Amino acid sequence: MNDQTPPPAWHNLELKQVFARLNTSKNGLDSSQLASRQAQFGENRLTPSKPRSVLQRLLAQFNNILIYILLAAALITALLQHWVDCGVIIAVVLLNALIGFIQEGKAEKALDAIREMLSHQAAVKRDGTTLLVPAESLLPGDIVLLQSGDRVPADLRLFSDKALHIDESILTGESISAEKHPHPLEVSRPLADRSNMAYSGTLVNYGQGIGVVVATGDHTEIGHISALLNTVQPLNTPLLEQMARFGHWLSAAILLIALLSALFGILVHQASVAEMFLAAVGLIVAAIPEGLPAIMTITLAIGVQSMARRNAIIRRLPAVETLGSVTVICSDKTGTLTRNEMTVQSVLTADEHFQVNGVGYDPHGSFSCNQQELTPTQQPVLLELCRAAVLCNDARVFKEDEQWIMQGDPTEGALITLGLKAGLDTALEHAEWPRSDVIPFESQHRFMATLHHDHAGHGFAYIKGAPERILGMCHYQRKQGEDQPLEPAYWHQQMELLAQQGQRLLAIAFKSHPGKQRELGFNDIREQLTLLGVVGIIDPPRDEVIPAIAKCRQAGIQVKMITGDHATTATAIARQIGIADKQCSLTGEQLDQLDEQQLQKALKETTVFARTSPQHKLRLVQALQARQEVVAMTGDGVNDAPALKQADIGIAMGQKGTEVAKESAEMVLTDDNFASISNAVEEGRTVYDNLKKAILFILPTNGGQAFTLVAAILLGIALPITPAQILWVNMITAVTLALALAFEPQEPQVMQRPPRQRHQPILSRHLLWRTLSVSAIIVCATFGLFLWEQAQGATLEYARTVAVNTLVMCEIAYLFSARTFTQSAISWQNFSGNPYALLAVAALLLIQLSYTYLPALQAIFETQPLTPESWVAITLSAITLFILVEFEKKLLFRYRSKRE
Ligand code: ATP
Repeated sequence: MNDQTPPPAWHNLELKQVFARLNTSKNGLDSSQLASRQAQFGENRLTPSKPRSVLQRLLAQFNNILIYILLAAALITALLQHWVDCGVIIAVVLLNALIGFIQEGKAEKALDAIREMLSHQAAVKRDGTTLLVPAESLLPGDIVLLQSGDRVPADLRLFSDKALHIDESILTGESISAEKHPHPLEVSRPLADRSNMAYSGTLVNYGQGIGVVVATGDHTEIGHISALLNTVQPLNTPLLEQMARFGHWLSAAILLIALLSALFGILVHQASVAEMFLAAVGLIVAAIPEGLPAIMTITLAIGVQSMARRNAIIRRLPAVETLGSVTVICSDKTGTLTRNEMTVQSVLTADEHFQVNGVGYDPHGSFSCNQQELTPTQQPVLLELCRAAVLCNDARVFKEDEQWIMQGDPTEGALITLGLKAGLDTALEHAEWPRSDVIPFESQHRFMATLHHDHAGHGFAYIKGAPERILGMCHYQRKQGEDQPLEPAYWHQQMELLAQQGQRLLAIAFKSHPGKQRELGFNDIREQLTLLGVVGIIDPPRDEVIPAIAKCRQAGIQVKMITGDHATTATAIARQIGIADKQCSLTGEQLDQLDEQQLQKALKETTVFARTSPQHKLRLVQALQARQEVVAMTGDGVNDAPALKQADIGIAMGQKGTEVAKESAEMVLTDDNFASISNAVEEGRTVYDNLKKAILFILPTNGGQAFTLVAAILLGIALPITPAQILWVNMITAVTLALALAFEPQEPQVMQRPPRQRHQPILSRHLLWRTLSVSAIIVCATFGLFLWEQAQGATLEYARTVAVNTLVMCEIAYLFSARTFTQSAISWQNFSGNPYALLAVAALLLIQLSYTYLPALQAIFETQPLTPESWVAITLSAITLFILVEFEKKLLFRYRSKRE
């Protein structure tokens, strides 16, 4: 095979031909073949679409209506030979473009890096052994094992399948999943009907299959559809869109105000057109919050990055905003609230109740009954149960570097360890009773069954699963070595005792099977099974979950457990972790009995939903949403996808979650841990706070600058700040002060207040009031000192220097106030909490000193050195602003707490 020859029609070939062409076998590639193939085919990844060039990205920054206005202004000022104004306008444009360029680049990089973290793994057979490898390392000739929930990692020719159904909608647009069969097909079959192929990027909805890799990377079918590859997630969210719309509207209003003010100046005060034009340009630049979009984007990107550091990966950006308003978290139990480190502690048979000791997957441990240690090999029922546990199982437990490692499903890992403790050799058992067929575990049917044949050709099936399910299929129980009629009351009573201790229960059963038959169907094991026993497995709660749940409760967020496990077990765990304090559980069966109204009532008190199937999850999300709740829902299986999509925030498990679940979710947890959800909510609230703070800071300061100019024009007096000076202030404060807010740490009480209401507008009445009030204070301070200095006999240049410094100092003072919403800013924590803010202020002070005292800048901006008295006056006016805003906060806080 090389790149020049067209690939064969793989779907048309006999399996032997496929293997021959790819020089491989059912046992997979030899490790000796890997290096040369790697060199020939490279990595199994699609060549990323060509990123925009640096120049293109830089030019894109100028593609903005505001920049057009500014460039037009620069052109006209140049024609009028106002070189300083022209120069400063161009500097503003360039600087803004540069900031936008750097920030956008950073944000994109951060998101790219996070996307990388979601790369997936594939189960392959190499040298006859099954291993998990990164999907990028797959090579043509590799044998890949597929199971429900997987994303197909490369183009495969299938040669074995068990009810395999694949969702190929990304390739064919067909939403019904395609059923697969391994037989060769005629050459002319279109892609959508090639049932013996599985294509890269498609999703396994059901069943299992094995195939050989025929194409990787760009050579796959999806690699040929290049349009699909360029779908880059836009750096956008509803809030950013809302702000962009607001920005456009604001720009138009500002243009209008500038025009009217200039006309007013010309007509009423007989000012010159050129002078009024410059004033209007200054006004436009002063009023438009040009830095805001960039700051909001970077705030969002910083938030996404810090969530990723805390193990929550955001797949769709709007989720960051929604997280802040989550009111209910519905969580799985196993692995999310508990550790998913399973150990069998009890074995219940019809005769005895055995205790098993030992911890984790380490198979050192013994069996006892009534405090008496015993030898398992002398207990035939126990031994048979352990054999079933080992054979009806896909997990592996082995020792590596002095440590016991488990590969596979932890529940099954625990059963292997149980078998090892009973003295069974797993390899020997599998060799003696080879498996002929399997019905894999699905949370929908809640059991797994395997068919085995001994060497004499006798067949039998082992079935393990949720006790209610298995008991319903059993007619007999193994007692003293014989099959006797089942005694359900005995089992229910004993199981209830184990479940009350929080043990997870699994029943194990046996059925003989006609020797000739090599296939196992649901009908074969529907009834007449013999119950061997029930095992009780402990899965302790995660330590960090208990404080995380307490934190959620404080934050006004309800936590509900939705689990496939037994109600008593689930409630016992719920009590331990503080979700439930009284009996408040419902089972899936009970849920089915409730109509919508009854369900609404039940939702208020119920915190544990047990023995649920994925359909129940969907119904619960919808019912909660009907109560106006904002729901975060976790999930891992293929069938969880509808509920994850329906939830306001679908959360998939990074480790045990299937690719289908991850693809349906807004957020993926890399550690499957509930604590990471509550951390993400905390981060989400902080991001929203910081976005709000950026707006709360920028709008009033822009307003202050603009109204100072409007007031001067309307009063017909000399402008207290020249257009060039206003441009200067705008330029330096945008890069320093406002940007610092993006790095603001979270407020201490961020998780002590109720969730934000979903549709609460960010541009609230309070924000409007704040914008007007702070603008007014800034105008008074700037204007007041400007007039006062002139009254003291200062020159116009001196008074303007005072006015500019007043403006900047007021902005600095306001920055400290704007960094907290309701809490007083007069605290050491607030002063020192954000080092970026201190750095920005220090830089700004230095720049302002140069502006005032450096001869070169004095020449450009016509500034003059100030006397200490003027500095005192400036500082006092800034302090006054600070005190007034703090006073407003206090009043508002008191008013709010009275109302609540
Ligand atoms: P959660 O829904 O909280 O993640 P869960 O693991 O209890 O947890 P499911 O995975 O749906 O939920 O499992 C439901 C039940 O099926 C379990 O309580 C157990 O009795 C049984 N079960 C779990 N894993 C297996 C398995 N590998 N084979 C057979 N039965 C299983």
